[in-house]
Amino acid sequence: MENYRNFINGEWIASSSQELMPVINPATEEVINHVQKSNQEDVDQAVAAAKAAFPDWNALSVDQRLNYLEKVYDGLKKYADLLVKTTVLELGASVNFAKDNHIPMAIKEMREYMDSAKDFDFEEEIDGARVIKEGFGVVACITPWNYPLNQIQRKVTPALIAGNTVVVKPASNTPLTALVYAKVFEEADLPHGVFNLVTGSGSEVGDYLAGHPDVAVISFTGSTEVGRGLYEKAAPNIKKLILELGGKSVMLYLAGGDKDLAVKKSMDSILNNQGQTCSAFTRLLVPEAELEEFKELIEAYYQDHVKIGMPGDGETMVGPMVSAQQKETVLDYIQKGIDEGAELFLGGQDIDHSGFYVQPTVFTQVDNQMTIAQEEIFGPVLCVLTYKDEEEALAIANDSAYGLSGYVVGPKEKAVAMAEQLRTGNVFVNHASGSSRAPFGGYKESGLGREKGPYGIADYLEIKTIFA
Ligand code: NAP
Ligand code: MG
Repeated sequence: MENYRNFINGEWIASSSQELMPVINPATEEVINHVQKSNQEDVDQAVAAAKAAFPDWNALSVDQRLNYLEKVYDGLKKYADLLVKTTVLELGASVNFAKDNHIPMAIKEMREYMDSAKDFDFEEEIDGARVIKEGFGVVACITPWNYPLNQIQRKVTPALIAGNTVVVKPASNTPLTALVYAKVFEEADLPHGVFNLVTGSGSEVGDYLAGHPDVAVISFTGSTEVGRGLYEKAAPNIKKLILELGGKSVMLYLAGGDKDLAVKKSMDSILNNQGQTCSAFTRLLVPEAELEEFKELIEAYYQDHVKIGMPGDGETMVGPMVSAQQKETVLDYIQKGIDEGAELFLGGQDIDHSGFYVQPTVFTQVDNQMTIAQEEIFGPVLCVLTYKDEEEALAIANDSAYGLSGYVVGPKEKAVAMAEQLRTGNVFVNHASGSSRAPFGGYKESGLGREKGPYGIADYLEIKTIFA
């Protein structure tokens, strides 16, 4: 990729700041490239381009917009190898996980959005009135680094299907994957200004973009802390907010269930992507009487699966954390767990490896009131908690400020009944495999709105009722 500039109004443009920011390979700590350190002037330019492009884009039929997006879809497939390579390089995801998950997930979810649009009622009749649905205007898409491609795709595809135009501000840790995505848009040759992308710091550029008076929707994925601050940015001109925030999800095991499955799913969720997954099942909740058996299974799984190494190596399961800061955060939480009296069961030691590596860590004797059970660590740390009866299990599971995801392993009928009572936006039961089209999003402080499929499209649609 020769272009590391902003993509505004169909052109690659250097920031008027004339400043750059480095992109670092977290496995080697080396600078791999530089991108624009944009400023408010660049944001003004991008928003103006998106605003100017909106009326014509919104006036196209959904089919016409889908025809353009088909070209983007083809481009994602064409650049899949480069997207894998870039994700491995700047995020530190293992190559297997990038190849099997990051990139195909984005391609599949984009397909499902487009197919959902074909069955979607963009116009309805209610009590004799004509109800039509259309774009809001300019959508600011502000995204995190943990799934650098799909966090952007999840916003841009439905926003554009609905008739909006977009300005993307990707995470500063992973802007290169986002720039490959912008390259795909350039080649798809959409009308200029429909898709724009500006790199730069969240506290400067992201903050300014979110509060821009010509932005109609803020679509944000990231921390609950930053998400909370966006209400203020939305208030002056009553912008719509779509928020995908943090999580502290439970893996609840019920007696008589498949213990190996419960261990595998919770362990994988903290090992894949180094646990930097908002929906990771970081609280494993088991009956007190079965704790010892679980400890044996967890230890065996750990010995077999924790293969720490260079992300590009096909044997590696665990790579580095995305940044020095993220490594510090995770190590601080591990220390807090020890200080508050949890038992360090596995890992938690220093690793003799260059890069931002953290040894996968399992705590037992965790009380749900401890910091490590309440706050999102966003790293390879599993908390094992115990319960006496199922009433207590449910109370512990729901005793969280978050409400993103959950998992119940146990006898089917009981497990489903438990799933119905979890206060979370989605729940898996036993071997269920999930979906690229069904809605995803959080209850409580995990967010507002839903992404994926028809619910994702609906969130980007303004609704007008015409009585004629
Ligand atoms: P973050 O610090 O909140 O950053 C997310 C994005 O917001 C980045 O592009 C960041 O820019 C930008 N930003 C930072 N401060 C801002 C501000 N004051 N105004 C506007 N934008 C601002 O989150 P992160 O550390 O990148 O990602 C980890 C968090 O995201 C975790 O809490 C995780 O649970 C959550 N997450 C949630 C989901 C979900 O779907 N629910 C998915 C993935 C991640 P810079 O990169 O320049 O700081
Ligand atoms: Mg951050």
